[in-house]
Amino acid sequence: METQILIGLEIHVALATKTKMFCSCSTAFGHPANTQVCPVCLALPGSLPVLNRRAVELGLIAALALDAEVYPSMQFERKNYHYPDLPKGYQISQLGAPMAERGRMTFTGDEGQEETVRIRRAHLEEDAGKSLHTAEGTLLDFNRCGVPLVEIVTEPDLHTPGSTRVFLEDLRELLHRTGVSEVRMEEGELRCDVNINLVAPQGGTEISEVKNLGSFRGVERALKYEVARHREAAKRGDRLRHETRHWDEDRGVTVAARTKEESHDYRYFPDPDLPTVTLDRPWVHKIRSSIPERPRDRKLRLEKEYGLSRYDAEVLVGDGDLADFFEEMASRGADPKTAANWVMGDISGYLNAHGVRLGELPVTPTDLVRLLQMIDADQISGKIAKDVWLIMAGEGGSPDEIVQQRGLGQISDDSLLEDLVSEVIAENPDVVGQYLGGKVKAMGFLVGQIMAKTQGKANPQLVNAKLKDALEKIQGRR
Ligand code: ZN
Ligand code: MN
Repeated sequence: METQILIGLEIHVALATKTKMFCSCSTAFGHPANTQVCPVCLALPGSLPVLNRRAVELGLIAALALDAEVYPSMQFERKNYHYPDLPKGYQISQLGAPMAERGRMTFTGDEGQEETVRIRRAHLEEDAGKSLHTAEGTLLDFNRCGVPLVEIVTEPDLHTPGSTRVFLEDLRELLHRTGVSEVRMEEGELRCDVNINLVAPQGGTEISEVKNLGSFRGVERALKYEVARHREAAKRGDRLRHETRHWDEDRGVTVAARTKEESHDYRYFPDPDLPTVTLDRPWVHKIRSSIPERPRDRKLRLEKEYGLSRYDAEVLVGDGDLADFFEEMASRGADPKTAANWVMGDISGYLNAHGVRLGELPVTPTDLVRLLQMIDADQISGKIAKDVWLIMAGEGGSPDEIVQQRGLGQISDDSLLEDLVSEVIAENPDVVGQYLGGKVKAMGFLVGQIMAKTQGKANPQLVNAKLKDALEKIQGRR
């Protein structure tokens, strides 16, 4: 029997509101320190909090998207602790009567296995400020004080560092797709505490907790480090203490936090300034029915409905805009496989190369469907279509206009192509001789010559057929 690894997560996500949880200060990121503060979020005496309705709505979307049970009412409580970046001396959070409990999220683990993680609870709370440790001393920025968060707590249902990372990636996608959060990792909009329990076969559990991880790669590395550390200790016969540790990204190790930070008694109690919030059932129902299709459901549907491979479905859904564009194309009659190849290949490549988003391009799915129709109708070659696409993406315009204005139409004119074939045969007697002598490959060179003369616009199937005809005739005359 092997040691069992149980991993649980506490995830803090910044909600996509314009203003803070209990005041009208802006939540915008990156502004000069202490320019987005007011008496409420600075906790000046006499100020009173007023709950942001939009924050509740976004929190509910998160809870419902995770299939959690939303309670008819919820209570805000004060979580008391003292830290310089917390001017109130308490954080407004939820404990006894949270927004929602008992959710679940299914995902595909790092080895392709289906896994379900139970969500213990989802509650609302406010963010704290930021301490900046400098040579002159600690500086405080209260701009983040009162920024609305949803805290999502999972049961310890994850078993490997790799699957934990995949779960977090999928969760991030879900929260982004449903509009709960922009989930900008670099702005700290998703932060994660990790609990890892190693249950030895002979009984006995080792627990450690790694706090405040700001990247999924960091989560995976910290967990790998902890698993190895626990195993080493077990080999030595040591018992590890239950402790809180911090991840040191640069050194790639976890280090024990000062014990002071471990022993909290938060003395939670209901915030007397905030009444119990009763959630209007029809409102909750309306929110539930407005939640867009979840990324995982969408992947499965794309596979089934359009016959896409799992990989293709994952790439498309990985960026919801790409999947939207693809589905628009398919609904307008494009062949799904061809449309998927274009979206994942040329379109995606263009976006990456130019650092732009799909919504910023002057191209509609209808334009692209039209481009594909022109290829099918032999009006342009596949190669020319790539050039037309680049013009569409860069300057806009319909493919018909672009092809017409720039003379890019495919040459399918019989007499013109026959003239070109005769011309090329006359100009390359040696190559023709090689072909007639049995070197079949020599024909490729002749085709290339015709394509060059027409700047790639000759219809390749017709060129091949006509060239073959002409060469066979010469053969017959010999
Ligand atoms: Zn404020
Ligand atoms: Mn929290």
